[in-house]
Amino acid sequence: MSPPNFDAIISGAGAAGLFCAGVAAQRGLRVLLIDHADKLAEKIRISGGGRCNFTNRELDPAAPQRHFLGQNPHFCRSALARYTPQDFIGLVQRHGIAFHEKHKGQLFCDRSAEDIITMLLAECAGGAAGGSVERWQPCRIEAVRFSDADGGHYALDTANGPARAPQLVLATGGLSIPKIGASDFGTRVARQFGLRTVEQRPGLVPLTFDGAHWAPYAGLAGLALPVRVATGTKKARMEFHEDLLFTHRGLSGPAVLQISSYWQDGAALQLDFAPGTEVAAWLAEAKARSRRRVDNELAALVPARLADAWTAHDAALQRPINEAPDKALAALAERIQRWQIVPTGSEGYRKAEVTLGGVDTRDLSQQTMESKQPGLYCIGEVVDVTGWLGGYNFQWAWASAHACGQALRHAA
Ligand SMILES: Cc1cc2nc3c(=O)[nH]c(=O)nc-3n(C[C@H](O)[C@H](O)[C@H](O)COP(=O)(O)OP(=O)(O)OC[C@H]3O[C@@H](n4cnc5c(N)ncnc54)[C@H](O)[C@@H]3O)c2cc1C
Repeated sequence: MSPPNFDAIISGAGAAGLFCAGVAAQRGLRVLLIDHADKLAEKIRISGGGRCNFTNRELDPAAPQRHFLGQNPHFCRSALARYTPQDFIGLVQRHGIAFHEKHKGQLFCDRSAEDIITMLLAECAGGAAGGSVERWQPCRIEAVRFSDADGGHYALDTANGPARAPQLVLATGGLSIPKIGASDFGTRVARQFGLRTVEQRPGLVPLTFDGAHWAPYAGLAGLALPVRVATGTKKARMEFHEDLLFTHRGLSGPAVLQISSYWQDGAALQLDFAPGTEVAAWLAEAKARSRRRVDNELAALVPARLADAWTAHDAALQRPINEAPDKALAALAERIQRWQIVPTGSEGYRKAEVTLGGVDTRDLSQQTMESKQPGLYCIGEVVDVTGWLGGYNFQWAWASAHACGQALRHAA
């Protein structure tokens, strides 16, 4: 029996794969969507703390390098300009999903991320002019081959039997959170067909420190405060002004997740725990007017637990501030405003929200996401395009999926 015929097979029924399938089916294409995970779109379900931060109003398609990383951050410009946050917001509104803006343009569902999954399934079911989406899930893909026969087609061996189509879309995402189905399938198949890949590493991930080095700060676990965090030097310097969270093993919170995508192994982080305040001058002024202990005085500027920890190590600071030596206060100011610390690593793919690197954009069309291997497309996180925290990664998934879904051809 010959395998069923489709115009395109999409591997990966996550954010990008589901959306692409719906766009293509609404253009009349017959699509087969294959995913090996037991549960559909689990990453959407757990995203944004269960409320899915599905896009960001501050995204500027004309300047993608502001919010996206990759060897060529301009690659995503065309797709992002042709399918904008406003387009996705329009779709969400047409489906009657209530949402709200939280912080810096980030949009979240009012109710649940499940609403986005339901919407994507409804879009898949809305095939027009003979278009349809058939989903095989859970279904393992065992092998992928390309044959020149019949004008060229991709033949897949799967746990459900063979499948074939002239076009294959790789939408299997990155390596983050393996326990919900992440795999290296996308980059492996890309390499099989001669595409280049950029080395992958965890992004938007908590950073960790050597146990002995971190011991003095481990007691601060759970403390959150707004900071300015930076890494890199001169032109390559990156800086974020966001909340930081101390953990048992290191640092997390939006500030650290953001900077982790730019952090290079062995590089230091610079932290300012009192952004906007000239701490040396502030302490000098406090010394002139106050007789309270240094830690009590400092607690007006930073959380009391941090004030305690930052003064505890120095006997010269265990006294009223008017008696504290200028040198000790200057060193304290330096520690509060320019704390330098070198992470030893990260929590890895187990905790990373995204994967940096992936399929090299030099081998992809920025208009269609088709690769230099005819009929093979790559969309979403499998591509070397990584967004900031805050809805940028989903918007890339929607935009790249849309570009591809519009470009897929009807089989001859
Ligand atoms: C905890 C967490 C929270 C996040 N929150 C947000 C957020 O609020 N906003 C935001 O913009 N981004 C968020 N992200 C990132 C966002 O989820 C991803 O960037 C996005 O899902 C990428 O879409 P994708 O379709 O490329 O990959 P995915 O959504 O990961 O989908 C890939 C699919 O491919 C399947 N697959 C993998 N390997 C195979 C294989 N071998 N065979 C068949 N199928 C396979 C997987 O099962 C999966 O269903 C979050 C990520 C995490 C981990």
